[in-house]
Amino acid sequence: MSEENRMPPPPGGPTLTDKLVKGAIDFHHHGYPEISFEARTRMEDVDELTLSREAGMAGIVLKSHLWPTVGRAYHLNRLVPGIKVVPSITMNFSVGGFNPISLESAARQGAKVMFMPTWSAAHDMERGGMSKHLRHFLDRAQDLKPERGMRITGPGHKVLPEVKECLAIAHEFDIVVCTGHVSPRESIALADAAKDYGIDEVIFSHPDSNSVAASREEIRDMVQLGALCEFCALGTLPAFQRIHPSTAMEIIEEISPEKSILTTDYFFEWAPPAAETLRMLIGTFLEFGMSAEAITTMVRTNPARLLGWDDTEPADTAETPQSDREDRASVA
Ligand SMILES: [Zn+2]
Repeated sequence: MSEENRMPPPPGGPTLTDKLVKGAIDFHHHGYPEISFEARTRMEDVDELTLSREAGMAGIVLKSHLWPTVGRAYHLNRLVPGIKVVPSITMNFSVGGFNPISLESAARQGAKVMFMPTWSAAHDMERGGMSKHLRHFLDRAQDLKPERGMRITGPGHKVLPEVKECLAIAHEFDIVVCTGHVSPRESIALADAAKDYGIDEVIFSHPDSNSVAASREEIRDMVQLGALCEFCALGTLPAFQRIHPSTAMEIIEEISPEKSILTTDYFFEWAPPAAETLRMLIGTFLEFGMSAEAITTMVRTNPARLLGWDDTEPADTAETPQSDREDRASVA
């Protein structure tokens, strides 16, 4: 297989959709191995990342539910130059929970994103989310009970001191905070407490997912606290269909693209590579009438700002005539 054109453009050349993928940063991207060798992805990380680079994406945030991805990101950055892999840490039991030493050591090896607990969150266990999925792979995950799960808040709905310590470290190392699978109510308390540590923007992780299941009002509350709301392409794929793209658009229109972020949550063996999944969602939004500007804000400007990058290369959206879009819409 040649290095170039593993995923060639549509007949007639790149479309507006292709142009909008350029410069995108996928803030939620899993890899392999993850959880166990049995939990497979569509392809090896190097091949998948190479496709993302060929599509013109600027970067990904590599997430793992188990381990900090610092070492993997380091090597992937050497193996696939031209696209940035940003390492992260997820504050689950596997890293010792809200463990400041885990967080600081990940930060000193380049972690720039902290996900709050996912399968270790009491809320996830109550909802039968990722904690339930983990049971297929780990014998020791059979008895993940909510009473043993992690919470952001304790008695009196006060944010726990160990969470505050992690927020202080996040501020110290310019780490972006994502809410993970904690409850919407805990997420609100977290976004509020983060301000005390100079963190004005957090990411409200996929509020539409079964593991979070936030109401529209809770989304509004989070946005009012400065949060950006995440929409994952994975949630629109056949296995989940947890949100219809038109519903996502409706929410985005309400809260504004400036308060929204599009990611893939690339994870499963049956899911297309991230560049293609992101392309699907971007193309769908275009079909439904979203502006190229709004999409650029969500896939490029917002994630770049959060990571403290200069805005990535502007996608040249001016070249595709409007008539192309109308043609396509009339075919649909
Ligand atoms: Zn994820």
